[in-house]
Amino acid sequence: MTKAFSQLLILVALFFATWWCFSRIDFVKHFHLAKVSEKAEQKLGEAIIKSIDGNEIASDSALIVLNKIKTIILEANPAIPKDIQLHLIRNKDVNAFAIPGHHIIVYSNLIKKCDSAGELAGVMSHEMAHIELNHVMKMIVSQLGIGAVASVAASNSAIVNQILQKLSTTAFERKQETAADMAGLQYLQNAHINPAGMASFMNKMATMQKDQPEIMEWISTHPDPQKRAQAIADAAKSLTGTYTELITPHEWQILKDATATR
Ligand SMILES: [Zn+2]
Repeated sequence: MTKAFSQLLILVALFFATWWCFSRIDFVKHFHLAKVSEKAEQKLGEAIIKSIDGNEIASDSALIVLNKIKTIILEANPAIPKDIQLHLIRNKDVNAFAIPGHHIIVYSNLIKKCDSAGELAGVMSHEMAHIELNHVMKMIVSQLGIGAVASVAASNSAIVNQILQKLSTTAFERKQETAADMAGLQYLQNAHINPAGMASFMNKMATMQKDQPEIMEWISTHPDPQKRAQAIADAAKSLTGTYTELITPHEWQILKDATATR
């Protein structure tokens, strides 16, 4: 082997070793990107809410019920950020998604497709897990770059719309989706909410997606719904406990009435 060739080999090996090392670093975690950009994240979240298509449902009573479910999950799970805010938006798409600044958007048509408060709690806990695990900011940084999180983003409507588009229509990484499923399941268990609702909703969405693919956004951003429903159902089987009624039938009706028109 010539000297030049062995030097080349060493260079190539060094390149791949460096590349491998960098690929192992969680930049958001280790360099505290999320912390540095906390204010920018909040600004970004507010800008996204303003740009969302559809009207926020003004029914106070519906929001009270939705917040009651949120509070029950939060109180049983101290690791979830306490400042999560819910927004109930009238929209024909079946969707719910987390955005920067600890906001969760819930579309009216998703609630319409829920047959029980337990199913809705399953979706909410999954989205809360994306927030707790910092998936939202990680996705923006990895797909759009750190510049998108900088304060300029909040005043740049094109970037704001691009981020909204990504968060509402793109799946997180598969391992992140699985992590959110499992964390969400544990949240429900801790809050004494029957986790069966989470699996049944996932199953139902998989079936409905075949008939109306254009509006089934929540499930289209969550690949392999049938497989995941099965994984959730299997994991739920190992959990035992007594489950309490999440909200009263009257409260559930208030939510259904507020979201009935579309
Ligand atoms: Zn998800």
